Amino acid sequence: MPAVLRVALPVPLPTLFDYLPPATGEAFAGSRVLVPFGKGKAVGVVVEAGVETAVGNARLKRVLRVLDDAPLLDAELMATLARAADYWLGAPGEAYANALPLALREDRPLPDLHEEAWTLTEAGRSALDAGSRRGGSRALLEALSRGPQTAELLHEMLPGWRDAARRLDEAGLIERTRANAAAPAPVTAAPVLSDEQRQAVEVIGQSLGRFQPFLLDGVTGSGKTEVYLALIEQVIAQGKQALLLVPEIGLAPQTVRRLRDRLGVAVQVLHSNLAEGDRARAWLRARTGEAKVILGTRSAIFTPLPHAGLIVVDEEHDSAYKQQEGFRYHARDLAILRGRALDVPVVLGSATPSLESLANVQAGRYRALHLRARPGAIRPPQVQIVDMRAQRLEHGLSPALLAAVSDTVARGEQALVFRNRRGYAPVLLCYSCGWHAECPRCEHPMTLHVGRRALICHHCDYTTRMPGQCPSCFSPELKPQGQGTERLEEALAAHFPDVPVMRIDRETTRRRDAFEQLLEGLHEDRPAILVGTQMLAKGHDLPNLTLVAIVGVDEGLHSVDFRASERLAQLVVQVAGRAGRAKKPGRVVLQTHHPDHPLLRQLLAQGYAASAQTLLEERRSVQLPPFGHQVLLRADSHQREHVDAFLADAANALAGAPLQLAGPMPAPMPLRAGRHRGQLLIEAETRGALHGALRPWYPTLSTLPSARRVRWSLDVDPIDL
Ligand code: ADP
Ligand code: ZN
Ligand code: ZN
Repeated sequence: MPAVLRVALPVPLPTLFDYLPPATGEAFAGSRVLVPFGKGKAVGVVVEAGVETAVGNARLKRVLRVLDDAPLLDAELMATLARAADYWLGAPGEAYANALPLALREDRPLPDLHEEAWTLTEAGRSALDAGSRRGGSRALLEALSRGPQTAELLHEMLPGWRDAARRLDEAGLIERTRANAAAPAPVTAAPVLSDEQRQAVEVIGQSLGRFQPFLLDGVTGSGKTEVYLALIEQVIAQGKQALLLVPEIGLAPQTVRRLRDRLGVAVQVLHSNLAEGDRARAWLRARTGEAKVILGTRSAIFTPLPHAGLIVVDEEHDSAYKQQEGFRYHARDLAILRGRALDVPVVLGSATPSLESLANVQAGRYRALHLRARPGAIRPPQVQIVDMRAQRLEHGLSPALLAAVSDTVARGEQALVFRNRRGYAPVLLCYSCGWHAECPRCEHPMTLHVGRRALICHHCDYTTRMPGQCPSCFSPELKPQGQGTERLEEALAAHFPDVPVMRIDRETTRRRDAFEQLLEGLHEDRPAILVGTQMLAKGHDLPNLTLVAIVGVDEGLHSVDFRASERLAQLVVQVAGRAGRAKKPGRVVLQTHHPDHPLLRQLLAQGYAASAQTLLEERRSVQLPPFGHQVLLRADSHQREHVDAFLADAANALAGAPLQLAGPMPAPMPLRAGRHRGQLLIEAETRGALHGALRPWYPTLSTLPSARRVRWSLDVDPIDL
């Protein structure tokens, strides 16, 4: 039997592929290779070299070319990826593909690692003096008139500068140059740490050099980031690397600035909103060990760390860490896997820890550290429940809420009205015949967006024009029901004509960096009203924000999803935490139809930790995660029968296994974008039992004839059912 290379290819199949070694050159595990695949070619990663194959000689094809002389993925990453693919029951090829930035998944030379910088040419200086350019081009010329600038700084100063750079480069007005590698000097000094902070730094610091997970549990503003900074400083001093994960891109720019100003080192940034070349460069700089501090979102957990010192996952409870398509990994859990493989401590930080992490603390697997005080803050925000029943509401806003906003802006301070729903109104109803606008592809109400004069389905983006009359009875009596952020913005602007009202949701922040720019428009010393969705729940220090008004969280109290209570508690606490961050005391108003709901009562009277404990007990008593373990098989198709047939076959294939099956049954949204959706929930008391049964079952799914008529996916530890 011939010795072959076993290669992972980026296809959603549960297999690796065997190839004969290339005619010239040698490929090692972790190297990329170009191979013939189907009718074309594909770039894959060698998982094993020199293995024996059962594939017949005649059917074996030969690797066309080796792309890397030395492995691009080191042994630790290769081993961790194999473990991750096994745990999340993912297609191995998709797991390896996830680990590589897009630019490195292609048959192209590696990008130049010298730091990119730009400088004015002679012609550029003349153009600037002559004032011949406008807009973004002029801004870039001006920025470069003070001397060469790195791409990294330009990103920060002039979001969207790349288009201008391309134009000016073509016109010969600017040119690329190499930045000198001088490290930025630290410009801010560390504050004197509180006792709690110092203790956390000490305890975690003692674990540097070995694996130990920590849960850093501290309210918003308690100084968790200062703890990370102090630890990263130690790690850099040892010549090692620190990886810091944040849940959202929106949080990255201000964190980068804070890290760089304090630590005096370049910070490599990795997130999906970067130009692909920049992302690949940051990844490669981490691989050489040159990058000491790496900041990124979910996929940055795959960054190579040859000199790893520390991994931090900030806001560890955030669901953005779970990838919801393709390879469905959880970056927080992967951080633990990597920490173990790399022998480094992993710090999970949150003001509202996930029930998973709290259970891990209780089981003794993670060590908890608490930050209870808020340095600088006078006292925690006061919380008031407003009973909405029997109140005259103005576009859903109660008199008590409006009065609180009014008091706040009268004092020259800022208020945040939080509503986790964008658009004008979630339903458009005919008062004559009862018709309401529904998405034909999802059979769900469409959201009214008045500014865009459209009805939009938030599940599939199907869009129609806003009707002038009822399409069913032709009555003009169409009335929006309920409130989204757009309607609240309009209502608040009408009620407070002299105060700027700013809406922050996915619609108003579509453009790159729009979020940052909107917030920069907020003057620290002036009154303002912010209306927004959960984008506003985190990050961004708003020192003049003293009131948080929470509207319309009642849906979360009655959801069928067993995680809804946990999420609601986290959201309320996170949003409330935005009030009174600096010197001024904060106030929180929560408006509800259910003022006596036990979850709200306990949350407001006793805080998140007590509520989380109650929720954990509930989960334990019914063996739901984190005490029981779940895998969800989802399938969809244009025809219901195909979904049912596939899920029935899949369930039959598990007959006799020591598992509990729920379903096959329709998904919570049985129709979406015209496709029928069904699911099979598989549960077991132990992970061992679950994986023991599913490991051999998973590869057989794609061989079922009924699998060919559906789209299907497996989700290990699903976070939405
Ligand atoms: P978190 O990450 O927990 O939200 P931060 O680390 O961002 O908290 O701290 C909140 C604010 O308090 C920041 O402005 C920070 O500079 C300040 N701060 C944190 N620790 C201290 C300290 N020991 N002394 C003074 N100010 C501090
Ligand atoms: Zn009608
Ligand atoms: Zn739809």
